[in-house]
Amino acid sequence: MSRLSDSYEYDLNKVIRFVNEFKAKKVLIQLPDGFKHYAVDLINELSTYLSDVDFVVDANPIYGSCILNNYLVKDYDLVLHFGHEPYPYYRGPENVVFIDFLSKLRPTNDLMNELLSNLDSLNCRKVSIYTVHQHKKTTELIGMYLMNHGFKVLNNLSNATIMGCWFNDALKYLDLIDCYVVVSSGLFHPLGLGLLTNGQKHILQLDLYRGEVRILDDEVSKYLRIRYGKVVEAQNSRVWCLVHGVEGQYRGFVRDSLTKALRSKRLRYYEYRTHIVNQEVLRNIDTVEFDVYVITSCPRIPIDDLSHHEKPVLTPGEALMVLNDLRSYVFPWTHNLI
Ligand code: SF4
Repeated sequence: MSRLSDSYEYDLNKVIRFVNEFKAKKVLIQLPDGFKHYAVDLINELSTYLSDVDFVVDANPIYGSCILNNYLVKDYDLVLHFGHEPYPYYRGPENVVFIDFLSKLRPTNDLMNELLSNLDSLNCRKVSIYTVHQHKKTTELIGMYLMNHGFKVLNNLSNATIMGCWFNDALKYLDLIDCYVVVSSGLFHPLGLGLLTNGQKHILQLDLYRGEVRILDDEVSKYLRIRYGKVVEAQNSRVWCLVHGVEGQYRGFVRDSLTKALRSKRLRYYEYRTHIVNQEVLRNIDTVEFDVYVITSCPRIPIDDLSHHEKPVLTPGEALMVLNDLRSYVFPWTHNLI
């Protein structure tokens, strides 16, 4: 048995159907970072059934379906993008298809008992459960387990995937539940949900890889304090630098709401476009004139990577708080567009 089939499953018949449908001879494989080491197993398996197809692996970072590396995509008959669902703000080229890449990891009884005792300790009976793509099958099982133990699960578990900047229908349940449960291993998805909902509800993370349950309420409060601090720091900024991304990380509606607010306040701004944003990129484009940066591409970047930059680096939502004098925290851009 290969390492891939030990841990993950995908629909081989679906892949074969797509290859035939596109009459594909040159196929690009895209895998999220962290899964790229499965590429060899994947190609070995696919080549057994599709021996006349050339498979090439995209070695570029793949953080989400928001960036598909279009400059490569156009060279191939078909792109098999594994492990993500389409990005709601961007469809991408027609030759890109999305294939589920699902974890076979199932929660142990101990882990489920830990989840129950954490929910009890917070007095939570009504929940919404969300998940990252690879655990969506397991999440349905977790939901059923909770319902069998007398909990109310309000959301639709067959459609419960969230992304770092898109939280499905989570806001719909804000006033109806006691707690959000997020099945994920990284912090950013549950934290993002905590920022989106302004820390109004308990957030529990169930991490199948580590086999642990964490109450993230303190973590969410800590990040909210830090991010409010950035908003305050940016209050008197006169010259703004907007850094936009490419492909799905360029959202016209976000750019337009920022420039409209800046113009109405008669503030000066300059706009940049880039595939990659990091400290080095900001230092390269910096001038003494810039008081504040707004990264519109990916909201993880100001929060995760650039929170110690010498000038404030804001998400679009935080910039709109400054420009529109809003008091409650806005993540990632504006609530009514989520
Ligand atoms: S959080 Fe960033 S990487 Fe994830 S989907 Fe949003 S823009 Fe893409």
